[in-house]
Amino acid sequence: MIITCPECETRYGVDAAAIGASGRTVRCSRCSHSWVERQPDDLPPPQELPPPSRLDTGRRSRPAGTNLPALPREKKSKAPVILWSLVILTLVGIISTAVVKRDMIMERVPASTGVFDMFGLIPAPGVGLAIQNQRIKAIQKGGKRVVRIEGDIVNVSGKAAVVPRMLGIIRDKNGKVLKRWRFKPPLPKLLNKERISFATEVPPPEGSVTFVVTFDQRR
Ligand SMILES: [Zn+2]
Repeated sequence: MIITCPECETRYGVDAAAIGASGRTVRCSRCSHSWVERQPDDLPPPQELPPPSRLDTGRRSRPAGTNLPALPREKKSKAPVILWSLVILTLVGIISTAVVKRDMIMERVPASTGVFDMFGLIPAPGVGLAIQNQRIKAIQKGGKRVVRIEGDIVNVSGKAAVVPRMLGIIRDKNGKVLKRWRFKPPLPKLLNKERISFATEVPPPEGSVTFVVTFDQRR
């Protein structure tokens, strides 16, 4: 049977047998109002009740005769929805902050680069940097002929920029790649408009025609 608190109108489902033929004092677990509840004349068959969730089992002392299990009817709480909203809002906040501060974060935590990469926020390596004044010299080193490629890296991005690894490529006269090698830039980072010279030396394979240094696009 369903009983309703006369004070706050909270409805409870209770086993009618627990009320007893002569009625029983019950107490609202929400507002603590006590009243005498009587069985209805047309007693329905005893029903299965869901396990008590807001059962007022009370360790508090209470007046005699008020220990009736009082069960709230299904009242869906909005708490989970509110909680989820908070979680989502918090995540959005964290992501927004991270996007704004990503340069700073990457500087401090290089491992975070992968996370930003997932969101596609990282420009390709070397964007905002220019390689200028490339010069190629054939020199002798320890009796061997090596090619020395020199040039400048200039930061034209308008802000401090990370200098990626460098990639040297040698091709033959048909454009076929004969050799690729990677090397570290002289500085890991350049301030805006900063310029730094680089140099790399390799023994040229047979048939080398074009020599170029670029930024390594691998991460
Ligand atoms: Zn009440």
